[in-house]
Amino acid sequence: MISVAAEQAAWAPRCMSMAARKLSLYQAKRDFTKTAEPSGRARVKPAQYPRFVVQKHAARRLHYDLRLEVDGVFKSWAVTKGPSLDPRDKRLAVEVEDHPLDYGDFEGTIPEGEYGGGTVMLWDRGFWRPEGSTNAAQALSRGELKFVVAGDKLKGGWVLVRLRQDRGKRHNWLLIKHRDGFEREGDGSVLDADRSVASGRSMQQIAQGKGRGPKPFMAADAA
Ligand code: MN
Repeated sequence: MISVAAEQAAWAPRCMSMAARKLSLYQAKRDFTKTAEPSGRARVKPAQYPRFVVQKHAARRLHYDLRLEVDGVFKSWAVTKGPSLDPRDKRLAVEVEDHPLDYGDFEGTIPEGEYGGGTVMLWDRGFWRPEGSTNAAQALSRGELKFVVAGDKLKGGWVLVRLRQDRGKRHNWLLIKHRDGFEREGDGSVLDADRSVASGRSMQQIAQGKGRGPKPFMAADAA
């Protein structure tokens, strides 16, 4: 019989190297001497439930980055028009590279000319879980993940469905709200709630570097 400690010791290095491997694309795309984005080396605190963040990102084109914590990284999608509470609005969600968990505390401005140059706001955050007893990684590899979020702005059930791939290198998905009482038919106002969940700041204040910084959610040294 293997002790829990021995089992953890056997698994820990492997899990870390798996997360590191998943983040190699994230790191290759960025020059950390030029951008203040996290390099993925900061410690994050453990949590009882997986976390999610949505970052409003005024890059070349405005979009909202949905990030779901799965197996030590943030699986990430750029939702071009942002999430909608109307189940009839199927929102395009372009799969992007895995992000490190400490990215979930990032709010600020990526310098122009750098990858993703533009201002980033922590628009929403909270906890999530797959619906039922689904394994998130398996559901994602199958191309359909039903999940529930408990955020400040987003709540209730959603589904991510992968579209059949047409020669592109990126995987395109649709993000759709379930009908569960948290939907709002014909009401696009959720995006009007345009203050940071972590600092209360507007995009303009963040861009100008004004106001207080974001209250951490992921960082291990957070209160
Ligand atoms: Mn982005």
